[in-house]
Amino acid sequence: MCFARFRTACLFAFFPVSASLLAQSEPPKKIEGFDLKSMDTTADPCVDFYQYACGGWIAKNPIPPDRAVWGRFNELGDHNLAVLQNILEKAASTAKPRDGSEQKIGDFYASCMDEAGIDKKGAAPMKAELDHIHDIASKTDLPWALMRLHRLDVNVFFRFNANPDAKDSTKTIAEVAQGGLGLPDRDYYLKDDAKSKEIREKYMAHVQRMLALLGYEGDKAAAGAQAVMKIETDLAKGSLDRTARRNPNNVYHKMSVAELASLCPFVPWQKYFDRIGVGGVESLNVAEPSFFRGLESVVVLSKLDDLKTYMRWHYVHAVAEFLPAAFAKENFDFYGTTLTGAKEMLPRWKRCVGATDRALGEDLGKKFVEETFGTEGKRRTLELVHEIEKAMDSDLKQVTWMTPETKKQAFVKLEAVANKIGYPDHWRDYSTLEIVRGDALGNLDRARQFEFRRELEKIGKPVDRTEWEMTPPTVNAYYDPQMNNINFPAGILQPPFYENNMDDAVNYGGIGAVIGHELTHGFDDEGRQFDGHGNLQDWWTPEDAKEFEKRAECFVKEYSSFEPVPGVHLNGQLTLGENSADNGGLRLAFMALMDTLKNKQTPKIDGFTPEQRFFLGWGQVWCQNTTEQMSRLSANVNPHSPGKFRVNGVVSNMPEFQKAYSCHLGQPMVANPACRVW
Ligand SMILES: [Zn+2]
Repeated sequence: MCFARFRTACLFAFFPVSASLLAQSEPPKKIEGFDLKSMDTTADPCVDFYQYACGGWIAKNPIPPDRAVWGRFNELGDHNLAVLQNILEKAASTAKPRDGSEQKIGDFYASCMDEAGIDKKGAAPMKAELDHIHDIASKTDLPWALMRLHRLDVNVFFRFNANPDAKDSTKTIAEVAQGGLGLPDRDYYLKDDAKSKEIREKYMAHVQRMLALLGYEGDKAAAGAQAVMKIETDLAKGSLDRTARRNPNNVYHKMSVAELASLCPFVPWQKYFDRIGVGGVESLNVAEPSFFRGLESVVVLSKLDDLKTYMRWHYVHAVAEFLPAAFAKENFDFYGTTLTGAKEMLPRWKRCVGATDRALGEDLGKKFVEETFGTEGKRRTLELVHEIEKAMDSDLKQVTWMTPETKKQAFVKLEAVANKIGYPDHWRDYSTLEIVRGDALGNLDRARQFEFRRELEKIGKPVDRTEWEMTPPTVNAYYDPQMNNINFPAGILQPPFYENNMDDAVNYGGIGAVIGHELTHGFDDEGRQFDGHGNLQDWWTPEDAKEFEKRAECFVKEYSSFEPVPGVHLNGQLTLGENSADNGGLRLAFMALMDTLKNKQTPKIDGFTPEQRFFLGWGQVWCQNTTEQMSRLSANVNPHSPGKFRVNGVVSNMPEFQKAYSCHLGQPMVANPACRVW
C-alpha cells in the first residue's frame, strides 16, 4: 500500500498495527453512509466546518482500545475484513473438496490462527535463518546473508527491487534504495527534542527485550541494542529525508554496476545480482548514491558481531507477528502502543485476515469481488470517472496562468490517463507458491520469497500496466505517475464513499472527490514532472513552472500553519501533493456535479441544498478520532493531512463553499489568500 517509490499518491496511508488473541466470527455489519446524526448542528459551518459535519460522529465514536485511529474508512475497512473472514473460514474447512486457491488462502489463514500450535513450536521455525546468520565467518560472507534476508522481505541495510525506469517507462529496471531502519523515519534518530529522545530510549529497550527473547543473555542483550542503535543512527545520517525524496529527480541516478561497486564495494554487485537470480543486469537505478557511500563506511567500521546482531534483530522484527505470543506482544507494545497509542492488540482473526490479504491478495480478492462487486458497480463507477475527467478538461481550458504550449501538453497527459476500476483483468497466478497447513512462519517466508521473485522477474521486461499495487478489498485508491493511471479497488466503492440510493450531491462529495483527488495527482508537484507516457521529463516552460510553484507555495504556507497537537505543526512541503490533490479533487467533483444538475430540479433534501450536501458528503468521509501518539507519528511521516484539515483546509479555499453556507471574509472557513492550483 503506497510503499513503492513514486506510488505514494494514494488516498491515505496505513500503519499496520499488530494483533493477537480471540477468534470470533462476526457477520459483516451494514455500513452507515451519509448520516445527519453525525453532524453537530450547534457548530457554525463558517467557523469549523469539520465540527459541523462530523461533531456528532466524533462524540459518539471514541477510539476502540485496539486502534490508534478510528474513522469512517476504518468502519468500512472492518466491514471488508468481516466479509473476508467469512470467505476464509469457509476456505479453511476441509469438510468439502477445495480448489487450489481455497487450499492456499484457507490453509494460510488457518495456520496463522493456530496460536497454540505457534506457541508450542517456540523459536524453532526461525532456526534455519538464525543459523545462517550465526555461520557468517567474515565480512565477505555478509552479502550472501543479506541476500537471503532480502528474499524474505527483511529490511536490512538497503532495499532491492524492480521499478519502471523513470526516464523510459516501457522498461523495468533494477533499483537499490536506502533502508535498514527500525524506527519509522530517519528523523527519529537525528532529532534532539525530548519526545524523540524518549522514543529512542523506548526503542532500545524494545530491541533489548527482543534480543533477550532470542536468547541473548544478561548484558549481551543491552549491548546488542546499543549496537543496533549505533548502526541504524549511522544509516539514518546517510539517508535522504522524506520531503527531499518526493522530488523524483532526487531519487533517480542510473548507474552501471561498476559505478555502484565503486560507491559501495563490500557487496560484489555483479555476483550478487547473478546469485539473487537477475543475471545480466548492466545498469540500475541507485536511488540515493550518498546513502550507499555511507553504508560502505557503516559496514567497514562496525564489528562483525554487531552487524550479525543487527541482522538478527531485523529478522525477528520482520516475522514477529508469526511468532509465539511473547514476541508478538513485545512487538505490539512498542510499535502499537508506544508509537501509535493503541492500547490493545487487534483480535487475532483481523490480524490473520490482513496477513492473508498481504500474502495471497489476488486469490482472496477474487472471491471478495465475486461476493461484493458486480459488473454494475464497475459500470457506474466508470461513468463517474468520465464525468470527473470531463471536469478536469474544462478546468484546464479555464486556467489562465498556463501558456498555450504547456496547456497543450497537459491535455495530452489527461487524455492518456488510464482508468482501472475494482479489480485486475488478469488475476495473479500463485500456483507455484506452496502453503502448508500448520507451518505459519514457513508459509509467510515462502509467500515473501514468491513475491520477491515475482518482482525481480520483471527486470529487463516491458512494464505491465495492467498490474495492481493494491488488492481488491483495500479501502484506498492511488495514482501511478509512471503508468499514468488511476486505480480504485472494489473495497472503497461502498458507503460512505458511494451509495446507490443517495443523491448525486453526496456521492460526488464522496467518491467523486476521491476520483478527482487521484486524477489531480498527475498534476501535483510530483506527478507534473512525468509526461503522459509516465516518463520523468520536464514538459513545462520555465515560466509555467514558476507560476505552478507560486501557487503550490500558498498550500505549503497554509497547511504548515495547522497544528494537529499543540506545538506540532503539519509539514506543508511533505503534504503538498496530497493537499493539492484534495483541493483540486473537490473542485473537479463540484464542477462535475454542477454539470450533472444543470437543467434539473434540485429541491432541498433534509433542508439542505445540493451544494450544501456536497460539502457535507466530503466532510463526513473524513470523520475520525486519533490518539495523540498517532497524530505525532503522522505529522512526521504521513504525506496526508489529518481528516480535520483535509476538510477545513479545502473548503476554506473554495468560494463555492462560502457561497453555499453564506460565510464571509474574516471567518475561519474563508482563507485569505485562498490557495488554488487546479
Ligand atoms: Zn493522494
